[in-house]
Amino acid sequence: MPTDTNAAQDWLTTNESASIDRLMDWLRIPSVSTDPAFDKDCRAAAQWASDHLTKSGFTSRLLPTGDPEDSGKPIVLATNEPDPDYNGPHILFYGHYDVQPADPLELWESPPFEPVRKPAEGAIGERIVARGACDDKGQVMMFLEAMRALSETTGKPAAGAKYTVLLEGEEESGSVNLERFVEKHKDTLSQCDVCVISDTGMLGRGKPAITYGVRGLAYIEATLIAPDQDLHSGLWGGKVPNPINELTKVLAQLWDSDRKVTIPNFYDGVRELTNEEREAWKNLGVNEAEALKGIGLPPEASVGESGFSFIEREWARPTCDINGIIAGYTGHGAKTVIPSKATAKVSFRLVDDQDHEQIAKNAFKWFEDRTPPGCTWEFINHGGGAPATCATDSPILNAARRAIAEATGTEPAMIKSGGSIPVAGLLKSTMNLETIFMGFGLEDDRVHSPNEKFELDCFRSGAKSHAAFAAALWSVTGS
Ligand SMILES: [Zn+2]
Repeated sequence: MPTDTNAAQDWLTTNESASIDRLMDWLRIPSVSTDPAFDKDCRAAAQWASDHLTKSGFTSRLLPTGDPEDSGKPIVLATNEPDPDYNGPHILFYGHYDVQPADPLELWESPPFEPVRKPAEGAIGERIVARGACDDKGQVMMFLEAMRALSETTGKPAAGAKYTVLLEGEEESGSVNLERFVEKHKDTLSQCDVCVISDTGMLGRGKPAITYGVRGLAYIEATLIAPDQDLHSGLWGGKVPNPINELTKVLAQLWDSDRKVTIPNFYDGVRELTNEEREAWKNLGVNEAEALKGIGLPPEASVGESGFSFIEREWARPTCDINGIIAGYTGHGAKTVIPSKATAKVSFRLVDDQDHEQIAKNAFKWFEDRTPPGCTWEFINHGGGAPATCATDSPILNAARRAIAEATGTEPAMIKSGGSIPVAGLLKSTMNLETIFMGFGLEDDRVHSPNEKFELDCFRSGAKSHAAFAAALWSVTGS
C-alpha cells in the first residue's frame, strides 16, 4: 500500500524534459473540434492519449459518439485494475483533447501547432506556447504523466488506486454528444465516487487552488418583431412601434434598482452564503481594485447585485447579461430606418440549486408578459447547463488538499469559479456525481486566444499533485 510517492515525485523531476517533449508531440496534432477539416487530427489526438494511458497500464479504448453512431468525435475511455487491497474511492478523471481554433493566426508569435519553450514572461522558469498548451492538453498531460510516473515507480497502474479516465473531443464545440454518451455508459460511469477535472486555474502564481464549484448557464435569444418591413423613420417614426426602442425598454426592466434580476422565481433554489464562506473568501485576499485596473476600470466600476462583495457576486450569486443586440442599421454613416425586428441574446449564470431549464421558461414568460402593443416575439433556447458545487468536507476533497499541499509545499486555496463547466452539472444531474476541480492554469494563460501558454511551474505542480493524490486515496475509506 503506497503511503508516499517519493519515487514518483523524483521520477517526474528526472523525466520532466521527456514529459514536456511528449506534451509537445500531442500539441502538434491540431485537434480543432469545431471544424470538420480537422476530423482526422481529432481522432489522432484521441488515439495518442489512449496509447499514453495504455503504456501506463490502463485498458483504454476509443468509443464512438453521436447519432448516427460515430458521427461525433471519439471519447477515450480507460480504466485500470486496482490493487486487491485497495479500498479507497474510484475516481473519474475527465479532460478534453480537443482545442479551440487558432484564429486569428497573424497574432501568434509562433505557429499555434508548432509548440515552443520560451522563458516565462514576468516569472521564473519557462512556458510552452501552443494552442492547447493549457486548455486542456497541458492540464490533462499533468495527469497522464503522473500516471506514467506511478506505473513506472510502483509497477502498478495509478499506484494501485482505481481510476476511470474519460477524455472528450468536443468540449470546445459544445459537448453536443456527451450527454448521450454518459446516458449510454451510465452503468460504468456511475461506479465512480467522484469526478476530478484539471481545466481550471490557481488563485495566482505559486498559489495552488481547488475549485469546489462552478456556475451553471441558461442562454436564450428573443426577437421582437413589429412591421413586416423596414420603414422610413420620417414617415413612420412616432406612429408605430420601433422594435429597437421597444426591445431595449423591455431589456432595461431585467434588473431592479438593487441590480437584482426581476424575472419571477429567478432566485428559487439559490443556496445562501454561509458566514464561514464569506469570511473564508474575504481572507483569500482577492485584490478587487487590481483586478479592475487590469481591465482598464477604476474602483467605482465594481457594480452588481447589492449586498454582495465583488467575489461573492462571481462565485455565489446568479447574474444576467445581455450578450448581443442585433438590430437596425450598423454600417457607416447614417441611415434613418425603423427596422422590422430586433434581437437580443441574453444569458444567465446560475448557482446551486437553480434549474436552467426552468429559468429559460420563466424568462420567455417574462418577455411575453411585456409584449409591446402590436408586436410579437420569437424565442430560441440555446440550452445551458446545471451549476455544480461539491461538498467541502468530504474525505476525497481532503485527500486532494493534502496531495496538493504535499506536492507544492503550499496549502491550496478553496475557491469557486464564475464560469461554467457543463460536464460537472451533467454528472451531478445524471449520476449525482460531484466534481473536484484541480486546475493549475493562470489567469494570463490566454486560453482560447493567440499565444496560449502553460508555465512549466504549473505543469510541475499539477503532475506532482496528481501523483500524490493517487497515493492519498489509499487512506480514504468508507466512500
Ligand atoms: Zn476551453
